[in-house]
Amino acid sequence: MPASERQHAGLLLSKEVLWLACKEKTCCSVRVVFVTDRDVARIASAMHVEPWSFLAYYETPPRPDAFILDASGQHYCLALAKQPTRRTVTPAPCIFLVQTRDRYRRCGLGDLRPAACKTFPSEIVEGVLHLALQSGCSCRTWSHGDVDIEAESTIARWREAELSDYCSVVARWNDLVLARQAGDDEFDLDDFCAYLLSTSDAARHPIQAVSL
Ligand code: SF4
Ligand code: SF4
Repeated sequence: MPASERQHAGLLLSKEVLWLACKEKTCCSVRVVFVTDRDVARIASAMHVEPWSFLAYYETPPRPDAFILDASGQHYCLALAKQPTRRTVTPAPCIFLVQTRDRYRRCGLGDLRPAACKTFPSEIVEGVLHLALQSGCSCRTWSHGDVDIEAESTIARWREAELSDYCSVVARWNDLVLARQAGDDEFDLDDFCAYLLSTSDAARHPIQAVSL
């Protein structure tokens, strides 16, 4: 049955079956999950939580999705926070990763998870679907046979489009910051998150993410 018909019938696609069956979820610890305004708005709205309660920001060289808080030139990228841990050798798990009593790891967000998680480990490179081999997955070596190519390409392109929109949103924020007058209030992460919520249509339509 074609991927589109499987989705229409409410059936799971190949990658989703593999994802649900994976008890390790290594990728949910080793990766930093970068988010967009729509991810933030969808999660915050559906879970009734403030964005800064599940987000972290990291210093980064300038890049299209990096925001500023002042005119110093320091850029930051927005990502899901990690769980507090005393371990220093192994990477900290995603804040939404949960573990069952029989030690299966599960994503606490399910279908609300960010686009970066839904598409992982796929990306579009020069118009072609590419499955990253050095992906942070310790459980399998991904191949095109593991995914429904049509559905996977669709969702990878959807993520690219969302990311492009997010870069435009960030660019407008950065212009706002640079237009600040001396003596105006300083901006912080809460202000940036509030701006994202105010601009994202996902805040008004919280569950309209494309399903995998
Ligand atoms: S949101 Fe879910 S799928 Fe994404 S990294 Fe966190 S636990 Fe894993
Ligand atoms: S990418 Fe790998 S580690 Fe992550 S859920 Fe899938 S099989 Fe598990």
